Amino acid sequence: MEALKTTGTTPMSEANAAATLRYRNNFLKEVEAHVEDGEWVKMCMQCGVCAGSCPLGAHWEHTPQKIFMMIRAGKRDEVLRSDAMWMCTSCYNCVVRCPRKLPITQIMHGIASYAQKLGLAPKMQPTRDFSIQFWKNATRTGRVNELKLTMGLYFKDGLMAGIKQGWNMRKVALGLIKAGRLNPFELFGGHQCKDQQGIAAMLKKAREIEERKSAKS
Ligand code: SF4
Ligand code: SF4
Repeated sequence: MEALKTTGTTPMSEANAAATLRYRNNFLKEVEAHVEDGEWVKMCMQCGVCAGSCPLGAHWEHTPQKIFMMIRAGKRDEVLRSDAMWMCTSCYNCVVRCPRKLPITQIMHGIASYAQKLGLAPKMQPTRDFSIQFWKNATRTGRVNELKLTMGLYFKDGLMAGIKQGWNMRKVALGLIKAGRLNPFELFGGHQCKDQQGIAAMLKKAREIEERKSAKS
């Protein structure tokens, strides 16, 4: 999840330039080294079962089968800049049916995460936006503040867009407040985990492990 952090464009571009230089002409090797479960990609026999099983595949730019073929064909930019991986809903249909037992879902999320790390993920992709906001929200206090998360998503395209979206959803919001499922005062602080230091230490440790893994590959 650390890969979902936004750190500005410069370091991202540097990471991308370094990876391009290091793995020139061998995108498969790059995926094997940096993408979660990426070493499985070469096991794909292009049978197409995953493409046919994916409930959303027909609406994507590239199906998992096509992405694996493109990785082997060295289509680095086309894969990493695609929004296809961000469309995966983790339904695991493909995983249970793949005759080669590829962990397709993990690979899809792994490629998306790697693309984000390199600064190549499509900027306006809604799942990407949601992932970034969710991560920031949840790691701030160790608990998700649903009201702030919702407001962040509503207002991400500007003040007017946020107001319009809030107005459109007013009946749902009022229903949630009446049912005790939404507390407007959460906007001014909100609940949080008791052990804030423990949360910070856990995240620091996870970051260190990720950095160690990246340095090795
Ligand atoms: S089902 Fe498995 S082997 Fe067949 S195309 Fe998809 S990933 Fe490849
Ligand atoms: S886990 Fe993702 S890629 Fe696999 S079938 Fe479901 S939506 Fe498609």
